[in-house]
Amino acid sequence: MNYQKELTFAIEAVRKAGKLCREVQHKLVSADSMEKKDRSPVTIADLGSQAIVTLSLQRDFPGEMLVGEEDSTPLRENAELKERVHLLLAQFIDPINDATLYEAIDFGNQDPNGTARFWTLDPIDGTKGFLRGEQYAVALALIEQGQVVLGVLGCPNLPLSYQHLEKGEGCLLYAVRGEGCWMEPLDGGERIPVKVDGFTNPAEARFCESIEKEHASHEVHEQISRVMGIHRPPFRIDSQCKYAAVARGDASIYFRLPRSSSYREKIWDHAAGVVVLEEAGGKVTDFRGFPLDFSCGKKLENNIGLVATNGALHDLTLKAISEVVHLT
Ligand code: AMP
Ligand code: MG
Repeated sequence: MNYQKELTFAIEAVRKAGKLCREVQHKLVSADSMEKKDRSPVTIADLGSQAIVTLSLQRDFPGEMLVGEEDSTPLRENAELKERVHLLLAQFIDPINDATLYEAIDFGNQDPNGTARFWTLDPIDGTKGFLRGEQYAVALALIEQGQVVLGVLGCPNLPLSYQHLEKGEGCLLYAVRGEGCWMEPLDGGERIPVKVDGFTNPAEARFCESIEKEHASHEVHEQISRVMGIHRPPFRIDSQCKYAAVARGDASIYFRLPRSSSYREKIWDHAAGVVVLEEAGGKVTDFRGFPLDFSCGKKLENNIGLVATNGALHDLTLKAISEVVHLT
């Protein structure tokens, strides 16, 4: 199957949404946004991002389902927020009225259970990173028969490489199943192939994990890494930029064990990252070694914990996990 039309749509939609988020982060997120507990910048960018992607999908693939994280309630309850979203969107798309805005955002509020083909979107993954002025991602993926077949990760604050930090330009990583992983500047430009590192010795490797300690058990990750003989300190970074980091060789492993055994991961937090990393040569399973199962609705109901690696270190990592974590 040829996914060229899908890929063109997804790249352009995520690029536009990523630029919108970048604009908000640069202009509205100040050093004290977190302290003031003012979440309005992230709400505006989140809903603006979801509206842009939905309107593009409805234009290019009318009738297709989108499963997104957000709904329009915050805007229906707050006229000032709604006006700020309209003003922001006007910089990127033709003007729309309130009804179109609400409908576009709420279009993403669907349950995919039993649907053969649908898109899933996290309009801003890593909202805490966004508010801290750090990393976040716009993540869009296409799922068919429970398999992620295409994914685009927009990382507006992630430099193309850590060797070129001074450039400060964000990047886009994307993959179609079977066609490799590619990266290009968020603002457009030449694409380059993306490959995981080739490390087979844990002593050379480093792992990444969430910055937010509520989102994953740092202590257990540390124990597993010690069993493996990893010496380097963890690379803490928000959002699906962790998948981008492993795909590019900035890290070799991504651990994510939720603190609560009843927590189930959301599909939009992983779908795009999984295909991006697998096409870069990596591997993703849950903590028991099972593949991620995207066929049971909005959550990964059948998976516990998540581990993503450069592929070469996967079996060793699962072995160490089984020594440290006893899952039923
Ligand atoms: P990260 O940036 O890796 O910390 O992950 C951000 C994502 O964590 C958000 O998109 C949330 O969906 C997800 N999240 C929220 N609460 C939890 C939790 N208690 N455990 C694991 N993930 C969570
Ligand atoms: Mg998220």
